[in-house]
Amino acid sequence: MEEMTITTVAPQILDGIAIAGQIKAEVAVEVQQLAARGITPGLAVILVGDVPASQIYVRSKVKTCGELGIFSQMLTPPDTITTNEMLALVAELNARDDIDGILIQLPLPKHVDTKRLLEAVSPDKDVDGFHPVNVGRLQSGQPGLAPCTPAGIMEILRRSGLPVAGQNAVVVGRSDIVGKPAAMLLLNASATVTVCHSKTVDLAKFTRQADLLVAAIGRPGFVTAEMVKPGATLIDVGINRVTDAAEVENFFPGDAARAATFAKRGSVVVGDIHPAAFAFAGAYTPVPGGVGALTIAMLMQNTVTAAKLRRGIPPEKRSEKI
Ligand code: NAP
Repeated sequence: MEEMTITTVAPQILDGIAIAGQIKAEVAVEVQQLAARGITPGLAVILVGDVPASQIYVRSKVKTCGELGIFSQMLTPPDTITTNEMLALVAELNARDDIDGILIQLPLPKHVDTKRLLEAVSPDKDVDGFHPVNVGRLQSGQPGLAPCTPAGIMEILRRSGLPVAGQNAVVVGRSDIVGKPAAMLLLNASATVTVCHSKTVDLAKFTRQADLLVAAIGRPGFVTAEMVKPGATLIDVGINRVTDAAEVENFFPGDAARAATFAKRGSVVVGDIHPAAFAFAGAYTPVPGGVGALTIAMLMQNTVTAAKLRRGIPPEKRSEKI
């Protein structure tokens, strides 16, 4: 009998930081082209109150705008602001010609009606892609603004040359901001899509069928090695902070770099896919440095797209329909 040889091919690491860099460079060129026509895209970011995590996100959004030549304005009302006052602020921004994108940093204080506010943003300036009109455009494949994180997933796949059409794609998570739009983008790109959630019976039965698995659950290391098909593309959207030393050692045994991060910060970030599963993947997005790295780049791209669409300039052609 012939001896069987098992060859293992190292999985492809999908470098979100490098891909985000490419996208930002392209956006900077588009901004220059618009500048030649006398147009400066503008983004308004509303940050209510003092939520430290939100402040960090908003600062890096504003900083990236500056780097790419996009005008940005940060509005920082106190957390005592009412829904009506917020609605007035949004109406003002909707009417301003120098503002192409409006981003309301979530979460908002409990007394503010988030849904009403998101619906008050003009769909043409809705760079988060949360407005029902943009949700509808995404569903019907019309040009519009798609939510940044799912759009970033599509860019990772496209720019890494990974197939989508005809692939069995399984999305775990059905949130309005990640799971549902990711499923719709994958469907528009001709994947065969299954969406799983907390009520799915025998989740592993579905995930093991996935050529392309998107995990957007919010639970550290939830998708284990036994749940993935060998050779699959694993897209890990999860950003979970683990603060327990034993848990860190369980996720990253013998990982000196992670241990050093933990010693310094008291936590490490773990995705929704168990790191041990990545060894069986054909390709995977690391955490950090994968999907998370794309979100701001896609926000910049959406701002420029909004600036163009609003002025009747055709946006850059992308491979997937949104
Ligand atoms: P979310 O709104 O909490 O939704 C989580 C989804 O996971 C829900 O649909 C839920 O199902 C499902 N789920 C929960 N437990 C499950 C289980 N045991 N089995 C199967 N499905 C389960 O979270 P999200 O906003 O989509 O975020 C998901 C993760 O992505 C988080 O870690 C978040 O931090 C991260 N994230 C990253 C970025 C980025 O990279 N920039 C952006 C957004 C979010 P039900 O609907 O049935 O409850």
